[in-house]
Amino acid sequence: MTDLGMPSRPKPGELTFEAPRRGKPPRHLADLDAAGRREAVAALGLPAFRADQVGRHYFARLADDPSTWTDIPAAQRESIAATLTPPLMTPVRELTADAGTTRKTLWRLHDGALVESVLMRYPDRVTMCVSSQAGCGMNCPFCATGQAGLTRNLSTAEIVEQVVSGARQLAAGQVPGGPGRVSNVVFMGMGEPLANYNVVVAALHRLTDEPPAGLGMSARGITVSTVGLVPRIRQLAQEGLPVTLALSLHAPDDELRDTLVPVNTRWKVSEVLDAAWEYAATTKRRVSIEYALIKDVNDQAWRADLLAKRLRGKLVHVNLIPLNPTPGSKWTASRPEDEREFVRRLEAGGVAVTVRDTRGREIDGACGQLAAAE
Ligand code: SAH
Repeated sequence: MTDLGMPSRPKPGELTFEAPRRGKPPRHLADLDAAGRREAVAALGLPAFRADQVGRHYFARLADDPSTWTDIPAAQRESIAATLTPPLMTPVRELTADAGTTRKTLWRLHDGALVESVLMRYPDRVTMCVSSQAGCGMNCPFCATGQAGLTRNLSTAEIVEQVVSGARQLAAGQVPGGPGRVSNVVFMGMGEPLANYNVVVAALHRLTDEPPAGLGMSARGITVSTVGLVPRIRQLAQEGLPVTLALSLHAPDDELRDTLVPVNTRWKVSEVLDAAWEYAATTKRRVSIEYALIKDVNDQAWRADLLAKRLRGKLVHVNLIPLNPTPGSKWTASRPEDEREFVRRLEAGGVAVTVRDTRGREIDGACGQLAAAE
């Protein structure tokens, strides 16, 4: 039988933690730590300092054209580039919104798998929303990616390259607002980052290490969003990388969360919140609670009160997301008056709350809908 690489559609409540094995993506500089980089250039018969030179071209100059690598002998540039910075992905579609300051790219990876990334430029920052897996195994019924199942894990370089490509567009002045830099990265594209744990942690190092080892971003500008894989949250707290943890809660009670975020059948609301508070205590970072407001599903006043009660007094902030309806779904965003009341009750309960802006909604947000349509 021919493997077309199509994941089988998950059944209700079904979870996939192990990604299917597929052909490995090409190895890339951004996959490698310091020792790996030294080995890779040694294998090419080159002195160790060449690794730093290529690292500066890739991470600091964002220069993907080896003809500009003038500190490397011209005769060696092409072969070094082919080995250390092979092409990882090609854009399939680019959609823009908000006068060009929101840009979403659908990428095709070496094996045909599709992923999305989104660049969002605000007056004071630029956020890249990246994918950590092609598809997702967590099967949340309101999420377009969850409905398609898990295709495979991304490699570290495939994650980093999404950020670098946005950084290149900004540096080249292709985004309205003049030349700029990526200040923030959120792991809120396709996939469950903590189900691809080692790869994602390596990507966090590549994003935060100073050039030539990485992009030199501040960990404070990076957010890892998770359905709540409790052992992995505990592990992430110990990595010494003070990134922000976003927990996709979506319901304050187990009965509803079991259906909205099926992994809740394994780790309950109280367990996942305990892990989040531990994360906040260890990293001193305020945890973000993601809550997609779904009309008449999770937006009742009593649920707002219960949520406030569970969060009160903690180092936490609630990010309410008006549901972005997926095609064919029976669910839609809450009524404005119910959203207002939900906010009011959280505030009255002493919990900091914001409603996420709906950037890029007309280009299908960052919810896997572009890949689903393709
Ligand atoms: N798997 C991770 C990260 C990817 S999703 C996680 O679940 O946290 C990023 C955020 O978008 C999550 O909070 C997710 O629940 C939310 N989301 C997914 N589909 C959505 C939709 N249709 N409308 C609003 N938010 C959605």
